[in-house]
Amino acid sequence: MRCEREITELAAYAMAALDPTETVLIDRHVRECPVCAVDVDGIRTTLAAVRRLPAEELLGNWSGRLAELREAAVRAALAQRPDQG
Ligand SMILES: [Zn+2]
Repeated sequence: MRCEREITELAAYAMAALDPTETVLIDRHVRECPVCAVDVDGIRTTLAAVRRLPAEELLGNWSGRLAELREAAVRAALAQRPDQG
């Protein structure tokens, strides 16, 4: 079963990079959708690995970089989905 949610949304949600309104919507969806729950879990595992980067890489100015972060998270998430396609 395939869910209509975009992996980009899930990645942004896992990174807490969504607007509060979007976060509520995705949070509600993930609680009810096992497919997306698994995806979010995988993305969070990836993010845990990212946290091993040097602190100076993580403590910069993030405010203007959300698009960049989303893209990085999506790439990491997609790399974990060999069954995609
Ligand atoms: Zn879903």
